[in-house]
Parts: sequence; C-alpha cells; structure tokens
Amino acid sequence: MYLANARSIDTIPQSPFGDSSFYQKEPSLLNDINQYECPFDEPMIEYTLIKSRRKTISLEVKEDGLIVRAPNRTTKREADAFVKKHEAWIVKKRRQIAERKAMEQSVPRLSEEELRVLSQMAKKVIPERVAYYARLMGAHYGRITLRCQKTRWGSCSAKKNLNFNILLLLTPPEVLDSVVVHELCHLFEMNHSARFYERVYAVYPEYDRWNRWLKDNGNLIMARAGYR
Ligand SMILES: [Zn+2]
Repeated sequence: MYLANARSIDTIPQSPFGDSSFYQKEPSLLNDINQYECPFDEPMIEYTLIKSRRKTISLEVKEDGLIVRAPNRTTKREADAFVKKHEAWIVKKRRQIAERKAMEQSVPRLSEEELRVLSQMAKKVIPERVAYYARLMGAHYGRITLRCQKTRWGSCSAKKNLNFNILLLLTPPEVLDSVVVHELCHLFEMNHSARFYERVYAVYPEYDRWNRWLKDNGNLIMARAGYR
C-alpha cells in the first residue's frame, strides 16, 4: 500500500482578523476559510501498486480501494504522478460506486411469497422461450434447471444442460430472450469466440443492447433477492 499525494498537512493559517470573537460566533465560516487557505490539505489517495511485465499503467477503482497496475520498472514517483493526474476520474468513479451501492441497499427486497410466484412463472416462461429458440436454431439440449442465483443469469454445461436464473423474470422479455439465445449458442460453441457471437447475432441481432441493459441493471435486480 502506498500513499500518493502525501504532503505534510499545512497548519491552520492565522486568522487575518487576529483572535477575534467573530470566528467563535461563526464556526461554519471558520471552516470554509480553513479549507480555502489549505488547498493542499485534501484527502490522500491510497492505492495498491501491482507491478508486472505489462507495458502500460492502468487504474481500477474497486469498492474497497484503488489498484494501479504498472510495468516492473515503474517508480513510486511515477505511479503517484499517474494517480494524481487521474484524480478527478477516480473521484467520479468512487462516487458512482457509492451511489450504486446505496441504491442496491435501498432497493425493496422480494418476499418469500414473491420469490415463490417468480419461481412458478419462471417454470412456465423460461422452458417455452428455450424451446422456441432451440427449434429456430436446430439446437438439442438436455435438462433445464431454474434457480435464484447471485452470480449468473444463465449457464450451459458440457452435458448440454441449461441453467437459468429465475430473476430474469424481473427483466424485460428481450433480456430473457438474449440470455436464452446466449446459452443455446454454447451448445454449438463452448466459448465466447467471434464465431460464438456471430451465431448469437444471427439469431438475435439486438443482443448487445439487451446485454448492456443487463450489465447496467442486473446488480439492482440481484439486490432485490437480498444478495450483495
Ligand atoms: Zn457464455
């Protein structure tokens, strides 16, 4: 763990008005003046520096800290400068993460009863969508398992069994279809190669749009089940 921007903290400047009672009556004003007078007295940015054989420096803002990945020859000074240069971006990212977390925590949780109803709906709807697209694509699959999961929306096993998250029922129907098509395409290509995506787009041209929707909103939906 390193500290960037680690300047010594400036001492509080002398009041231009001397030790007057004015400051004691107006504590908020006093605070403002101190902040103004101490522009370098800002929070330091902590980061973890990970050196490797890479060629460029990168930043990753995570919920629990900042990670700087840099080439082996990078000095602490260079890493500090890089962090400092991207300070505004880091602050913005941190705010976004904090806002997302607050939203996830404030989202109403599904009751046991609601989860039960969702599960019933999923048992009817998901196998129908799978059957529809499988027919369209000439795909043959094994069993379909439905679960309430916190990490994935769907999966496809080497034995051609399919697994879907019942929380998909809380997304637009287009999202469910895009996940169904994604998993069915794995019956032909067990990877995420260009060939795999060619197949996905051929069946579902709007795939990217709905995949994006799921990336943007999926966390909030999983939060409704009490996860995170
Ligand atoms: Zn996949």
